Amino acid sequence: MAATTTLIAQVLLVVLFFLAYLSAVHGRLDQDYKDQLLSSAQQDKDWLVSVRRQIHENPELRFQEHDTCALIRQQLEQFGIPYSYPFAKTGIVAQIGSGTKPVVALRADMDALPIQELVEWEHKSKIDGKMHACGHDAHTTMLLGAAKLLNERKDRLKGTVRLLFQPAEEGGAGAFHMIKDGALGDAEAIFGMHVDDEKPTGSIALVPGPLSAATCIFEAKIEGVGGHATVPHSTVDPILAASFAILALQQLTSREADPLHSQVLSVTFIRGGSAFNVIPPYVEFGGTLRSLTTEGLHNLRQRLKEVIKGQAAVHKCDASIDMKEDYLPYPAVVNDDSLHQHVQKVGRLLLGPENVKRGNKAMVGEDFAFYQEIIPGFMLSIGIRNEEVGSIHPPHSPYFRIDEDILPIGAALNTALAELYLKEHEHSILHQTF
Ligand SMILES: [Zn+2]
Ligand SMILES: [Zn+2]
Repeated sequence: MAATTTLIAQVLLVVLFFLAYLSAVHGRLDQDYKDQLLSSAQQDKDWLVSVRRQIHENPELRFQEHDTCALIRQQLEQFGIPYSYPFAKTGIVAQIGSGTKPVVALRADMDALPIQELVEWEHKSKIDGKMHACGHDAHTTMLLGAAKLLNERKDRLKGTVRLLFQPAEEGGAGAFHMIKDGALGDAEAIFGMHVDDEKPTGSIALVPGPLSAATCIFEAKIEGVGGHATVPHSTVDPILAASFAILALQQLTSREADPLHSQVLSVTFIRGGSAFNVIPPYVEFGGTLRSLTTEGLHNLRQRLKEVIKGQAAVHKCDASIDMKEDYLPYPAVVNDDSLHQHVQKVGRLLLGPENVKRGNKAMVGEDFAFYQEIIPGFMLSIGIRNEEVGSIHPPHSPYFRIDEDILPIGAALNTALAELYLKEHEHSILHQTF
């Protein structure tokens, strides 16, 4: 009996030693992987900074990213990376790897905003009234950096990476048009990142599940009968009808929406009349709708029309509502749970566990959601906050500036997300094939 117990103890000891050995080897491999990738990315820093500054100096608005597109193509050609274009007018899809499954996609947006840059620095926007105030110049540069790194390391790719440089994230639903033009190909998962002024450089922030809102805009016109203010009974007052309609709209979010499913309905402008003593014939107003679920937005859109028309009718007015279908409503960004695990693992490996933080949901729109309607996707935040270089302003501020130290970090992170995804998923494809 004692001999058997000793034997079991000895076997257990050997197993434990073996496991400890394996974990040490693993740890060493992880450390080597991280060191190699980050040092290659750091060696590219000067190049990355110069590319980002070129894009920053020449901002282009949605669907007009012709020079940015040319710059990316020229760089890809220089590295001998194959690509196709145009997708969605100015978009590019580069492809690296074996050309076989699994296929994973990385996405960057390229468009700037109609904002006058107020940051005084050497590489300020050269185009009056246009500025890269949302960091898309950095997103593009980090993806180009990943293209270079992936291409240098392509022998180790266990599948294919598609790199999507897309136009028109800011209101143009560029992602929708990229998909329509076939940009996703056989991709089975997609990753995207956005700069975040609230998280320090060197960190990332993740949110599993719903991240940002489904959004749309609207404009309404309520028509009555104008007339002199002293004889209101001979008019049909659209100002009163519009006032009731705008107040009634507030009940939709406070009474009809599940309090645990965030929604926003904001009327942001109202126009009507110009005189002190004349009731105008019509009033126009409009604004934005947001919901953390795509279905919630759909309901909100429907009820908005019913409430405005109903309130107009009560006040003997007519109403017409323009849902601005030219600007496609954006679905909600909902991050995939298993990709969340992947990003968390890769982030911890590359940046250290302390630099992978929990992110915050926001009621902003992001057209990355269109990709997630087709395949699982994950959108993460990459920190740029650094007081020393003035990287403290939120996106869309004329004072917005990024900490350029994130460029190699983002390039390495994009690279690792794709490389390690393919490594983890090569076997699932083998099982499917045989
Ligand atoms: Zn933006
Ligand atoms: Zn943006």
